[in-house]
Amino acid sequence: MKADITQIVPAHLTTWEWMFEAREYSPLYQPCGEEQSLGGYVDAITHERLDWADVKIKATQLSTTLIREYGLQPGETVSLFSTNTIWYPVAMWAVIRAGGRINGASPAYNAEEMTHALKTAKSRFLMTLPTSLDVALAAAQKAGIPRSHVFLLQGAGRAAGFTTIQELMRRGEKYSPYPPYRIPEGKTNAEVCGFLNFSSGTTGLPKAVMLSHQNIIAQCHQLKQLQTPGPYKILAVMPLFHITGLVRFCTYPVLMNGDSIMLPSFSMESMLQAICEFHIRELILVPPILIRLVRDKIVDNYDLRHVERWSSGSAPISPEIIALLQKKFPWTGFRQGYGATESTACISAHPPTHFDYKYATTGGMLMANTVAKVLDLSTGAELGVKKTGEILARGPQIAMGYLDNPAATAETFDADGFLHTGDVGHFDEEGLIHIEDRIKEMIKVKGQQVAPAELEDLLLGHADVEDCAVLGIQDEYAGERPKAYVVLKKGVEKSEEVAKRLLEFVKERKVRYKWIVEIEFTEQVPKSPTGKLLRRVLKVRDKEG
Ligand code: AMP
Repeated sequence: MKADITQIVPAHLTTWEWMFEAREYSPLYQPCGEEQSLGGYVDAITHERLDWADVKIKATQLSTTLIREYGLQPGETVSLFSTNTIWYPVAMWAVIRAGGRINGASPAYNAEEMTHALKTAKSRFLMTLPTSLDVALAAAQKAGIPRSHVFLLQGAGRAAGFTTIQELMRRGEKYSPYPPYRIPEGKTNAEVCGFLNFSSGTTGLPKAVMLSHQNIIAQCHQLKQLQTPGPYKILAVMPLFHITGLVRFCTYPVLMNGDSIMLPSFSMESMLQAICEFHIRELILVPPILIRLVRDKIVDNYDLRHVERWSSGSAPISPEIIALLQKKFPWTGFRQGYGATESTACISAHPPTHFDYKYATTGGMLMANTVAKVLDLSTGAELGVKKTGEILARGPQIAMGYLDNPAATAETFDADGFLHTGDVGHFDEEGLIHIEDRIKEMIKVKGQQVAPAELEDLLLGHADVEDCAVLGIQDEYAGERPKAYVVLKKGVEKSEEVAKRLLEFVKERKVRYKWIVEIEFTEQVPKSPTGKLLRRVLKVRDKEG
């Protein structure tokens, strides 16, 4: 029986207070799991470790310096532009403690993409790594962030001359700790945003999803109800800037008083090495990595018999891969999490009773305090069990909306508090959700979002292009890849050379996973009488070949 989240989650606490300060709620005062020792963030390569007591002290010092010396105010945004490191969540906690909003952006972004991210999230500060400093500085300048507001999360080296957050922490020692931000009188933690994560949602360009303190606390408690007993230890393979990383690797491990082991850069070898070295029992991965687990020869060099379970999310996984996983690792269980950035990760997941491969193609069951409905795609009528339509969900993990975008917010979050997921599926008699399709525009490449509108905007800026539309096409490994339908300007002849030129144009301007893999020239792209692109028509046309 799932416990009522509303009875557990306090409405007056920030995520920081709930985790680190409130005696009656903080997991630091109520260690969970069998081990009574403190968990923490651990570097998978160097083994450097920060347990929760260290994190609390360092985040307090960092937030104190940011407030006293740089004037960080509640409600202001700090962007993190970094690969996985133990210092990422420390910086996150410092900003949350100060009442700021933390925003994660992909470290693979180029300067243009990062500039858009900083402007969209209205960032006042940027924290990065020496390896990303050039891009970070170019973007900061374009977004109006002064050099003095760009900090390094770790390391000096080539980037000497920039202040590291460790230096800010040292400076914080000389002050008495600035008091942590409190939810203002008359407000609840559901009304205060602490986290901004990017998503293109159902349509248009990437937007900053506003997640409240309550969203994060609720999702952590929802996940805890599905937790198997024993010490919690997780390997942070997926990026921290994505919602799954934010929840599963930065915040949830504190509630579980477990270890979150940060893999700074992904390779199959480094992941497999860490799985063995740290004796990881459950892995949270995306389908392309699970595909490599069944295909890459290198996997056979590692003894993975201690792995109890694979967990997949962020994108659909094929029954073929699930079958191959079970064949290769017959002693393991399997689970999926289904949800979106707009639902602070999971709307549904498999409970421990359903960690069996026979349920693996489903997205599991609804989280505690979550209700869903399925609406007919053409009439909007509510449908019953086993009937396919758009999935809507409501619960304490549903986001506040999109920052400064009331139109997109109203379109995606209805007046009754339901999120329109843009996903198509059904529930079976057992309450398991089956995701069948996606009606929203979003393309998912290796679990990462690509907004067609972003690529269309870019292509429309090319001198040869009159009109265009971008769609996701199936890709065995990545799940999907972008394909463009292009109407050429009068006088430009269709040719392989022009197609190549357009592909290069995108490559030069966008991060790798957004690269277009195919161009098809067409006389026109289907539009409604009001000029709206009819992507569904194109999709059907594409499927029919
Ligand atoms: P994001 O906001 O990046 O997490 O993307 C959310 C979208 O990813 C969802 O709306 C789905 O389209 C897709 N997605 C997430 N989890 C799953 C899953 N388990 N199965 C199928 N699609 C998924």
